[in-house]
Formats: sequence, structure tokens, C-alpha cells
Amino acid sequence: MSCDEIVKRDQHVVMPTYGQRQLVLVRGEGVRVWDLDGKCYLDFLSGLGVNSLGHCHPKVVEAIRKQAGILIHVSNLYYNTPQIELAERLSLLFGDGLCFFCNSGTEAVEGAIKLAMKIREGRSGFVSMLNSFHGRTAGALTATGQEKYRQGFGLLSNFSYVPLNDLDAVRDVVNDQTAGVIVEPIQGEGGVYPATQDFLRGLRTLADQTGVVLIFDEVQCGMGRTCKLFCFEHYGVKPDVVCLAKALAGGFPMGAFIATRDKGACLTRGAHASTFGGTPLACAASLACLDVLCAEGFLDRAARVGERIVSRITGFGKAHGGIREIRGKGLMLGVELEKPVAQKVAIECRERGLLLNAIGDHTVRLLPPLVLSEEAADEGCDIMESALLDALQ
Ligand SMILES: *Cc1c(COP(=O)(O)O)cnc(C)c1O
Repeated sequence: MSCDEIVKRDQHVVMPTYGQRQLVLVRGEGVRVWDLDGKCYLDFLSGLGVNSLGHCHPKVVEAIRKQAGILIHVSNLYYNTPQIELAERLSLLFGDGLCFFCNSGTEAVEGAIKLAMKIREGRSGFVSMLNSFHGRTAGALTATGQEKYRQGFGLLSNFSYVPLNDLDAVRDVVNDQTAGVIVEPIQGEGGVYPATQDFLRGLRTLADQTGVVLIFDEVQCGMGRTCKLFCFEHYGVKPDVVCLAKALAGGFPMGAFIATRDKGACLTRGAHASTFGGTPLACAASLACLDVLCAEGFLDRAARVGERIVSRITGFGKAHGGIREIRGKGLMLGVELEKPVAQKVAIECRERGLLLNAIGDHTVRLLPPLVLSEEAADEGCDIMESALLDALQ
């Protein structure tokens, strides 16, 4: 079967939302994936921040295999032990929280929004950030602070959008109708823009003073992506609710939101539910991920690899020019280019065997697996350097 045939078959039966995709990927192992023709790629995107432990991590594969032979699904009419174990682990890591399990980032955001409305009964207003991304269903899409995603889907009207890191702008729009503020500690889809410490601290204070619910969307920046389990640990600011998904179960679809005990208790019996949420299989996969992520020294090692990548990119930026800024934390990085050649850089990288993606014309995003070795990091940086040189020609 050729790539052209696959494209033709796809066009015939799959809705055209993703356009024509660039590769047919058939196999993955660790930091690498292979396409239909057997060409190997270093994966600096990890799905989209999903395969944080690399492809087919042996511990995750083993956990899924084992659990699949025992119990794949039970409804939430009944308890299942992997769900309880996972909730205990996450609750402890968050610091005495209550968990709700769902199946995607969007659902986690939707759930958090509903929870905020329950906590602040009678209030329905929300504040989110311009350039943010929170998902694609009606509520989550309304939270998303980018007109290009919302356009044509006239939705809820109780959201105010303010610039990230502009605390005065938040203060200006928060009133007695405001239930919650939602923010990504590092904007992902918007181009890797970190919130400042002052901003998140200021939001915490504002939330404490006004009673609005502070929600951090860590769907992309959470679960070790920034080399701390939760991104908010970098800031020393704890939200009332945190949303997780993407890397939560090592590639298995899963989402969750965790709230402080008192606030989480507001989502009372019957207020929310999910058929597939917290299935034994997903929870087993997630428990295996947490075993790896929380192992002594694992995230610190990943952080050193992240620093190495930043210093390499800084180095060739100095040598050849063309790089305006490197943003992000840990292994969530955005490289802003001086010229609008980000798409070209991404294509040049792909042709040389490195997967990353362009956000807009100026920013290249890197979300490499946390298991990346220094050698593989260097290999990726070498490819980026030569791709950048070519793109700047
Ligand atoms: C990807 C993403 C979402 C949406 O997650 P899905 O699993 O695609 O529904 C929400 N918020 C953030 C910050 C994301 O990066």
C-alpha cells in the first residue's frame, strides 16, 4: 500500500477536518516512529504532548496488556480498583484533592467549568485568556481565547477574554457574576507562552478575595511535560482545579480534573458523569505512567536534557542568527524565529527525519518525550540547525 493510496482512501471516508496529513505512521518505539516506507523519524512532538514516555513504553504496554486480560471496562455504577488507586495517587500528588475521570482534555475543561458553576451557584461568568486553547466542544471552545477556533460556532456568551499576564485586565472584568478564571500556566497551542509568576500569584490572591474559582488547564503542560509533575509547581501557586489529559495515560485516551477537597465535593451525586471515565484499562495505563514519572530522578534528568536543547538552540541562534526567542519550561519549548519560516523549518526537519510542528509563521514547537537521551537530543538539534540554515537561505 502506498501513501497516495492511503490519502485517497482517507479522503473518501474521513471528514476533511485534518486536511491532507503528511505521513502514514505505522510503528513507534521510544523516541522514534517509522512511516509506511520504513523511514525513521525522531519524534519531538510526542503525538501532541501525549507520548511523553516515548512510544510504546514497556511499562505502559505491560500494564495495558495485563489489565486488558483482566477487566477492560466497567460502568461507574460499580467501583474498580485501578480507578481508586489512581485517584489516591493523583490526590496525594495534587495535595488532598478529589478527582473526576473523563476521556480527553476538552472533557476535563468542560467538567471544571461545570464544577465552578456548582461551587459558585448562581454565577455563570468566566474569564479566560486571549490566545488560549481549551478544547473544541461548545463549552471548552467558548473558553478558548482564539477567534479562529470559535468562528462560526456562536456559543455561550458569558466568557470575557483578557491578555495573558495582564492582572489589571482580569480585575477589570471580574464581578459578582464571575464563577471562574481559567488559564494555561503555559499556553500550548497558542505558541508556548508562559504565564508570569506575578500573574498566577495575583490570580490566586484575586480568587481568594472574590471567591472566583481558579482553574489551571494543564492538559498540555501537566504530567511532567515541564519536568515537574504539575506545571504549577514551578510557580508555587496552587489552583482550585487542575485539568489533565494528553500525557495522563501514556497515549491511552484519558482526562481528569482534580479539585481541592472542599471544592471538589460540590460536584454532588448526579451532577456529572462519564460512561468511559476512569475505566480500569485507562487507569492501569495511567498508574504505569505515574510509576515512571515519579521514579527518583526521572524528571530531573529530563530537565537537564531540556536545558541542553535550549543551550544548543541558543548556540546556533548566536552563530547563524534567525532566532528571536526561546520560550517555555522543561521539555515544552517554543522557538520564535525572526522570519516567517516556521512551516518551512518544520518541513525541512521532517525531510531530515525529525518531527516537530509550526505554530503560525514564526514559532516552532518542541514537545519531545521525557525519556529523550542526550544523544538523541543532540541528533534532533543537529537536524534543527541544518533545517534552520536551509530555511534562512
Ligand atoms: C489539547 C488541549 C486541550 C484539548 O484536549 P483534547 O484531548 O484534544 O480534547 C485542552 N486544553 C489544552 C491546554 C490543550 O493543549
